[in-house]
Amino acid sequence: MARSEPLPFTPLDAWLPLYRNLLIVAGPCSVENRHQLETTAKELAQLKRVPVLRAGVWKPRSRPGHFEGVGAEALPWLQEIKKETGLKIAVEVAQPRHAELCLKHDVDILWLGARTSVNPFMVAEIARAIKGSGVAMMIKNPVSPDLQLWVGSIERIFLAGSNKIIAIHRGFHGYHKSRYRNIPLWNIPLTLKKELPGIPVICDPSHIAGDRRWIKEIAQKAMALKMDGLMIESHHKPEHALTDPMQQITPAELKTLLNQLLTPEKKDEPEKYLAELRALIDDKDNELLELLVERFQLVEEIGIIKKKKKISILQPDRKNDISTDRREKGTTLGLNPDFIDQLLTILHKESVKIQQTINKSTTKQLNN
Ligand code: PEP
Ligand code: MN
Repeated sequence: MARSEPLPFTPLDAWLPLYRNLLIVAGPCSVENRHQLETTAKELAQLKRVPVLRAGVWKPRSRPGHFEGVGAEALPWLQEIKKETGLKIAVEVAQPRHAELCLKHDVDILWLGARTSVNPFMVAEIARAIKGSGVAMMIKNPVSPDLQLWVGSIERIFLAGSNKIIAIHRGFHGYHKSRYRNIPLWNIPLTLKKELPGIPVICDPSHIAGDRRWIKEIAQKAMALKMDGLMIESHHKPEHALTDPMQQITPAELKTLLNQLLTPEKKDEPEKYLAELRALIDDKDNELLELLVERFQLVEEIGIIKKKKKISILQPDRKNDISTDRREKGTTLGLNPDFIDQLLTILHKESVKIQQTINKSTTKQLNN
């Protein structure tokens, strides 16, 4: 889509109540039954900070044989909940039929999941189904870290006549071991904001974390990066949830989290905000140090084998392979390539030192 002018997205505060300039979308990963929906929704409404209730009705599951959502039967329940609580309702749509049914049942916001926004054919079909309705849409980033696919999905929905659009950053699939379920790759949502000026972007810490222990730190980071809001999965009994039980929190826990979050708007408490950010840095530095210890333990193991097998400590080919690979990976993750080079140089220097010490020690010492 060749564009000379920015797309005229409707600003969030023109159509949704915000809390401290922040949009909070919360609700269960999936609607499981009427009681669970009602209890959770009412508890969330009582917080008076959550204008939008999210609720999965059709659930995309990796493998068959698991709970796939209540389906269309849940839509009238959501209509009633909306009347009772005044919350706006958001539902994931993965097919044109889902979108048609949602429109028939007054769902306020439809959202495209990460497994849908990755597929331009399906996005085009859903765009056709909502065409002209002007319904509000949230578009999650695609599972793969492809900014243009995300932009394309947003443009397709915009062209179908929806100006009320919100992008949701929910992290990306990665092959490397990480403590998060999805890698945040923060530079991608930040670049999206530059490519589509004025688009509201909210963060979904639940799906990035995959574990409720990490929701707060991700939410705080999203605040530091000036995201426009948060989507957080909330269930009245998270441990019994039929989908994503590890990453949901109770409405009471959500309240605590929102109280603890320091938003840049809290201008009256900049010291507290700074302290929170510094605490996050301290945590990250501790993790880095622990990782370094693990890395140097591996270097030692390798040093022992090199000594036993009389292999030279310096291996230029291996060094070059590491440089090329880490440079490429680091750059994709948004790191500065010069910084990666410098980091690799000091890591290599220290590793060589460790292996030289091993080489000087006696075989007896090594066996102990
Ligand atoms: C969800 O929001 O419950 C969901 C399925 O998310 P995603 O599309 O981000 O995986
Ligand atoms: Mn979920």
